[in-house]
Amino acid sequence: MTLPSGFVYFQGNGMIPKSRDGLKPVPFLKTYMVHAKARTYLSTMDSIEKLKVLSEDSQYDLACACGTNDNDRRHRGTDGKWLYPVVLPNGGYSVLLKTLLSNACSNDCKYCPLRNDSNVRRCTLHPDEIAKVFMEYLRRKEVFGLFLSSGVIDNPDLTMQKMNDTIRLIRRKYGFRGYIHLKIIPGASDAAVEEAVSLASAISLNIETPGEKHFKLLSDRKNYLHDIIRPIKLMSKLTSRGQRFSRVKCTTQFIVGASDEKDTEIVDYMNGLYKKLDFNRIYFSAYQQGLGKPDIPGEQKHLFNSEEVFMREHRLYQVDFLLRKYGFEKNDIIYDSSGNLSLDKDPKELWAESHPEYFPVKINTADRESLLRIPGIGLERVNNILTMRKGSKIKDFASLKIKGKTLAKAKKYVEFD
Ligand code: SF4
Repeated sequence: MTLPSGFVYFQGNGMIPKSRDGLKPVPFLKTYMVHAKARTYLSTMDSIEKLKVLSEDSQYDLACACGTNDNDRRHRGTDGKWLYPVVLPNGGYSVLLKTLLSNACSNDCKYCPLRNDSNVRRCTLHPDEIAKVFMEYLRRKEVFGLFLSSGVIDNPDLTMQKMNDTIRLIRRKYGFRGYIHLKIIPGASDAAVEEAVSLASAISLNIETPGEKHFKLLSDRKNYLHDIIRPIKLMSKLTSRGQRFSRVKCTTQFIVGASDEKDTEIVDYMNGLYKKLDFNRIYFSAYQQGLGKPDIPGEQKHLFNSEEVFMREHRLYQVDFLLRKYGFEKNDIIYDSSGNLSLDKDPKELWAESHPEYFPVKINTADRESLLRIPGIGLERVNNILTMRKGSKIKDFASLKIKGKTLAKAKKYVEFD
């Protein structure tokens, strides 16, 4: 008999899937009799095939601190699934199994390759399949946690029910208490959102655009205020300081360039999400032309430049850092006459150029807030400066090991005396 790929004989009386090194059997299959092994193998291989498709399709979602196109930041697991390094809430770094529960979707988001009229291979995992495969990965110490999202299977609450069932299994049946990032499905009821919050370590729902006007160009079916803003506000309320679920982190993501939004509108919304709704992180995903319907702005060539949109994404991340970590306010951000960030200069440098009264900053006496305003000087360098100057006076850039482009950016804004 020719063995299908992925099989080995085991003790001469049956076959089970190869393990990672191709030598040892996968332990949770050991106890089955021969025909049961075969049945288990079939369902396991089905799960793995589906997981391959669904983990690949989950790549468009960044709201779990994972990269997508950057292959340095993800790698394939033993079964071909993408595993994603992420930054942990406590600052550590580890790997998530990231997958969709289903890539079937009843929605019509015109920027999304999984929308209902797309011709893609559809499949859905059962909660038990995800739970088992995840626990197996965990047992092999290949991942530390799970990111679970999904297309909309029939309706948002049915989908949330399956996702919540999955997490309940992992938490209660298998006793996993670690990191789980759960996507909230747009349009989910308050009860479904509350249940998800009670089960997850982190939750996210993609806001996509800054406002209804821009979202209307991207979907005829989804209602921006009801399906997106309402659950986002509820997520914020349930997880705010002093609430029962304040340990649960909230994140969201904008898709940049699919609609006709301006950067200034994204930054306004970003500011509100941080300041009013207390969100933990906001992510930006440059729209990838060719994935959406021809009538959306992102698909119209005269409005879209693929290099520019990646630079826009990069500039928005820089602004995000300035607002979150550098003490900048929304009004400190400078835009061009069209309401967009400069593609040529970073937003901190632009602010410095238009505030000559603020400079030079005295390296040896300035407070932390002032040091953070110097172009080219980041958080880590500011911490170094604060530590070094406790010992003795800092004399020059060389003693700070600042050179090259950073030196060129910083030197006209600094004084050492
Ligand atoms: S809800 Fe919209 S964005 Fe999400 S999978 Fe369905 S079509 Fe794509």
